[in-house]
Amino acid sequence: MNAALGQYSLVELEQALASWGFKTSHASRLLRAYYAADGALVDDDLELPHGLREKLQQLPCSPASSPARREVSADGTTKLLLRLGDGRTVESVMMPDYGGQRVAGCISSQVGCAMGCDFCATAKSGFERNLTAAEMVAQFLALRREARAVGRRLQTVVFMGMGEPLLNVEQVLEAVRRIADNRYGGLGWRQVTVSTVGIVPGIDALAATGLAFHLAVSLHAPDDATRAKLLPTGRRFAIQDILAAADRFQARRGRPVTIQYCLLRGVNDSTGHARALAALLGTRRMHVNLLSYNPTGTSLRGVEYQPTPVEDAEAFVAVLRERGLVAHFRRSRGPDIDAACGQLRHREAANA
Ligand code: SF4
Repeated sequence: MNAALGQYSLVELEQALASWGFKTSHASRLLRAYYAADGALVDDDLELPHGLREKLQQLPCSPASSPARREVSADGTTKLLLRLGDGRTVESVMMPDYGGQRVAGCISSQVGCAMGCDFCATAKSGFERNLTAAEMVAQFLALRREARAVGRRLQTVVFMGMGEPLLNVEQVLEAVRRIADNRYGGLGWRQVTVSTVGIVPGIDALAATGLAFHLAVSLHAPDDATRAKLLPTGRRFAIQDILAAADRFQARRGRPVTIQYCLLRGVNDSTGHARALAALLGTRRMHVNLLSYNPTGTSLRGVEYQPTPVEDAEAFVAVLRERGLVAHFRRSRGPDIDAACGQLRHREAANA
């Protein structure tokens, strides 16, 4: 089986088969076998009409089919640097579920990023290009192989690596379909989360799809002034407009939106900020996911952000919970391997 199959949707493969003179009915069987093998070059046993196997073997291989670099943290977090067909690189991360047999995967949607979030390593390298659905699917399959190699199962996937997914929304949605749908990767819709820094039209576009994946919105501040210093997009979309779009998504999809909030020492992590965040969310049935910051050196604006001490993060969580919100604090993953978005790629480029 040729790894190039990851580049085809079912319809595209049916069209290709027809153009090569084969029955289109082979398409779904080929894709099922391809995804069941996690995109590996296997399955010589699959019965195919004469000449089709040779035809498939002549196709150019899928991009990013094997990691250019792989780093494993002491806590099991594994970062993959995948080289694309044009020589550029993207990062994907596998995060183990402590004590369990499952892992979560983090997928990039762009090479670099144009959003310029001040605490983010990816922002420093600027934007290069959007990824194709096939390049995102290749990350998913690489993570699934990685999980299988350590005896675990890739349980969930979040589009929260390099890039802003909603600035590449069509390709991201096609990748979500191929990852979640039973005719392809079969991970399940509820196992996929698309994350955004708050692109309002993009959130509405996701809601309009009718697909049952999750949405995560990165807020990182309870007021527009603080947010605008951290996220340039905060100057384009006000928090109330972002939350209104999240409300519309939640109303249409019927599942809680996750609010991501990266705690930065002395910037957005006081109990006053927690009270302001609780007041902002009010009675909304949203989950708050507090993230620990992985230091990335001097920021674009010349700031050296620091992580919030654990006891202060726990005090922040307590304030939210006292006010009836569902809130969790996620400790930093893989700090010894630069697991924050964009760090490994940035270091690799600096050493080149
Ligand atoms: S945090 Fe996400 S959206 Fe912001 S610059 Fe980094 S990759 Fe882009």
